[in-house]
Amino acid sequence: MASYRLEALWDCVYCGHIGNLGRYRHCPYCGSARNEDVAFYPPTDRSRANAINPSEHKISSGPDWMCEYCGGYASSDALYCPGCGSKRSDATRNYADIQEQKEMEE
Ligand SMILES: [Zn+2]
Ligand SMILES: [Zn+2]
Repeated sequence: MASYRLEALWDCVYCGHIGNLGRYRHCPYCGSARNEDVAFYPPTDRSRANAINPSEHKISSGPDWMCEYCGGYASSDALYCPGCGSKRSDATRNYADIQEQKEMEE
């Protein structure tokens, strides 16, 4: 039995973003809730997705940010919280800032 499971991916039907992680209940790019009848596909098909829109899958260079509503982390290029769908606000501190503050408090 494998010690981990591959995470299924899904495509957003609202903004057309492809390859959202299965754990995301909202699209990180438009904030739409995931359709209940959305089709999941295995990440091994990601090469297919990359062929369609490779720029969407570049490794993000910026820090992750934390949602001020649910406390979840989102990737730097996400515009909406994948957990609760809240829009990223200007006041949202990024992960690097939080770490910096922790170090200063010690
Ligand atoms: Zn979307
Ligand atoms: Zn959230």
